Amino acid sequence: MTVLLGCIADDFTGGTDLAGMLVKAGMRTVQMIGVPRGPIGEDVDALLIALKSRTSPVEEAINESLAALSWLREAGCRQFYFKYCSTFDSTPRGNIGPVAEALMRALGCDFTIACPAFPVNGRTLYKGHLFVGDVLLSDSGMSKHPLTPMTDANLVRFLQTQVEGKVGLVDYEVVRQGAEAIRARFARLRAEGCNFAVPDAIGNDDLMAIGEACADLPLITAGSGIALGLPQNFRGAGLLPDKQVADALPPTGGLRAVIAGSCSIATQGQVAAMREKHPAFHIDPFELAQGRDVAGEALAWAGDRLEKEPVLFYATAAPEAVQAVQSRLGTEKAGALVEEALAAIARGIVALGVGQLIVAGGETAGAVVKALGVTGLRIGPEIDPGVPWTATLAKAGDRPLALALKSGNFGTPDFFLKAWSKLAA
Ligand code: ADP
Repeated sequence: MTVLLGCIADDFTGGTDLAGMLVKAGMRTVQMIGVPRGPIGEDVDALLIALKSRTSPVEEAINESLAALSWLREAGCRQFYFKYCSTFDSTPRGNIGPVAEALMRALGCDFTIACPAFPVNGRTLYKGHLFVGDVLLSDSGMSKHPLTPMTDANLVRFLQTQVEGKVGLVDYEVVRQGAEAIRARFARLRAEGCNFAVPDAIGNDDLMAIGEACADLPLITAGSGIALGLPQNFRGAGLLPDKQVADALPPTGGLRAVIAGSCSIATQGQVAAMREKHPAFHIDPFELAQGRDVAGEALAWAGDRLEKEPVLFYATAAPEAVQAVQSRLGTEKAGALVEEALAAIARGIVALGVGQLIVAGGETAGAVVKALGVTGLRIGPEIDPGVPWTATLAKAGDRPLALALKSGNFGTPDFFLKAWSKLAA
């Protein structure tokens, strides 16, 4: 099997972001959660492995990324993509530069790009400087990030602190002339001993041109923006059909449920909207702390109701209520108790016949996916920006589960009501 693109993302939601872009651009994509143990035998154009390596110790990030690369090579991928955040989240020690260099060594290549630009999301690069909206990265909120404070917007200079190789700039004056000029500049930078090129990009046309210029690079390192410009290369080479339905999911069927563990504002509105129309079970952290079998009670309550209509299980609460819980139980303990209960409910309702499940909250989704033993997801149609339906990779003979993993603040108020219509029954 030949897979056109093998991607390694340094965190889960970043991975979903890239996978969604590839699907929209016409590439059938499966996202794996961590490095798989063996082959998966899925028919795809792109494979993506989502790691949790953005802020882990450098050595660990390198080792995991190399393991991911070797699995992707084994799976037959022909070009590789290391995806990081569009705000280049890292520290002077790493992990972007060291991981990129380790991947380059493993692939035997000495030149790649580093381009987090994503203009439609307000991430532009000019003269090597990364802008977030109207301000330099270093003047944006990112300079105060607890784990990866970004205080230098000059990515040529900043990446140089992370790598042994040499970093050069592809100035906007070159980028605006198109792919051929960019390729020529790549050649000149290489001749000057550069291993990394940071290309300026202020619009989608620039991403398309840079993508085209990268057709022959074994490795690309970037945010998800560059993904816009890659499918055209595969089409041009006759490797990807001009038109194909890339977001088709296998039929899942089954009952419908929503599990909400996010307390973000968007999720609060979505919970309120669903409670008006459908049965809803509230999970109280204080009851969990008393040792009550709340998950068991929720499942007993849900039985008949699930047969009739979508059912909501939520721990979502307003900030004052969350604060009260956190000050009495401790933030981590409260989070862990709630996640554990929601994960148990997820396992229980799937056993009761739920086949289509929405989970709200990043950490909550992580806990649910782990409890259900999900190893990978085929990416399907988008419900709202950044949130696609997916189908779990199921063992032969097993029915896949349709899963929508919604980051807390994503989605319109009627998300839990409208999402079902995007799925075949
Ligand atoms: P988001 O994507 O909005 O950040 P997460 O699921 O990542 O959502 O994080 C929400 C965290 O809050 C989880 O750890 C969850 O268990 C916890 N939580 C949910 N409801 C409550 C509550 N009522 N009180 C305290 N913590 C809660």
